[in-house]
Amino acid sequence: RSNGRLIVVSNRVPVPTASGAPAAGGLAVALQSALRSKGGIWFGWSGKASQEADREPQLRTLGSISFAVCDLTRRDIEEYYHGFANQALWPICHYRLDLARLSERDAAGYFRVNEFFARRLAKMLRPDDVIWIHDYHFIPMAAFLRQLGVQNRIGYFHHIPWPSPDTASAMPHYDRILRSFSSYDVVGFQTEPDADNFRDCLIESGAGRAVDGNWCEAYGRKFQVDAFPISIDAEAFALEARLAERNTLVKRMRASLEGRAMIIGVDRLDYSKGIKHRIEAFGAFLERYPEAAKARVTMLQITPKSRSEVPEYANIQNEVAEEVGHLNGKLGDIDWTPLRYINKTMSQSALAGLYRMARVGLVTPLRDGMNLVAKEYVAAQSPDDPGVLVLSQFAGAARELKSALIVNPYDIGATAAAIARAIEMPLEERQDRWRDMMATLRDNSIDHWTANCLQAISGESEADLEGS
Ligand code: UDP
Repeated sequence: RSNGRLIVVSNRVPVPTASGAPAAGGLAVALQSALRSKGGIWFGWSGKASQEADREPQLRTLGSISFAVCDLTRRDIEEYYHGFANQALWPICHYRLDLARLSERDAAGYFRVNEFFARRLAKMLRPDDVIWIHDYHFIPMAAFLRQLGVQNRIGYFHHIPWPSPDTASAMPHYDRILRSFSSYDVVGFQTEPDADNFRDCLIESGAGRAVDGNWCEAYGRKFQVDAFPISIDAEAFALEARLAERNTLVKRMRASLEGRAMIIGVDRLDYSKGIKHRIEAFGAFLERYPEAAKARVTMLQITPKSRSEVPEYANIQNEVAEEVGHLNGKLGDIDWTPLRYINKTMSQSALAGLYRMARVGLVTPLRDGMNLVAKEYVAAQSPDDPGVLVLSQFAGAARELKSALIVNPYDIGATAAAIARAIEMPLEERQDRWRDMMATLRDNSIDHWTANCLQAISGESEADLEGS
């Protein structure tokens, strides 16, 4: 059993600054709490560019946690991050082959940067450290660490979807990427279908086979492939939502609604989130259910801009803005803006209060690994008068939140009908659905997720099996 330190690797690292810790989401909080109890290092990119040849990690230590980050060159950032990670892996994993840019230069940059990080990390490791690598930026990291002689337990978690073999095989250097996974001891995905897709990739490419349930044998190694659905701290979020009734922003929103029902959408501005389809569905809802238009049901869409350097994101920004303008122009009135669209990042507290105020949570991604907004919306509801979650069948969260109104986000009419059903749903049904979903969230908190992942990565479950 490992009593070693925990080493977390992720592209972005929440390094505390002189003015305190950066605003942290649930995952960052959970990882820091695991790091604090075991002691360890959180390692990754500084988020900055530098041209220096010698880019050694910058260290900042806070209690038992050291944050270690390296600068990248502009070329690294262009090829590894904007290029391969965000313009090849991201669209392909989200089933958008039409948006994938396959560039040899980007691919070379991706592997080069992974090797760069692996070399710097290897120097900091102790033999009993347990290493946990996060997300698609770093798939080949373990393979480079193994080349450098690292024999520690290494786990990987894939936060985004893993597609079926016909789609996955569009990845440039597909074979090398598949092989990279075999350097891990544990490979985790959000859902069973993602894990199944991954196993199918190994089988169909002839690289390996599934053995003993959740194990795979490929490229001469045996490793665990499993689903670990990520979650939130539902109790803490519920408390945040109760307290947020006092938040000034939340109060202002409530006052401005003047008693009208509100629908909320919260997403980074990303083509995977289905924002255009959602706006269309909201428009169809207002047009097909005149009593809703008469009651002036209002939608609040909070959409911080994201990855603006990537052309597809600049395009979607324009397209969504245009769609919002059309809808408000066509359906609004001098004293009613049906769709309030905001490109601002909101604090967790403000979001929690706004979710609680919303009669409907509209979460309709075209493809999403999990979607934490769906879970946060549920956790924020008041037990006495809960709102209704309308959830895409293509979000990982739909596997767990079965009492949501599940919709096909491409079907505008069906989504509009689900919004109408949500708005009209009687209290008792809302409470039944909410209680069921809240129980699911309580059963699998983010701390539970962290513990499960770490138990698998550190090999404790195997030790238990062998010992029994
Ligand atoms: N979020 C936030 N402020 C905003 C918009 C989003 O804090 O203005 C948070 C939100 O509460 C959630 C996360 O960003 O915790 C988004 O996670 P999700 O899994 O839904 O989508 P992702 O952006 O990771 O694809």
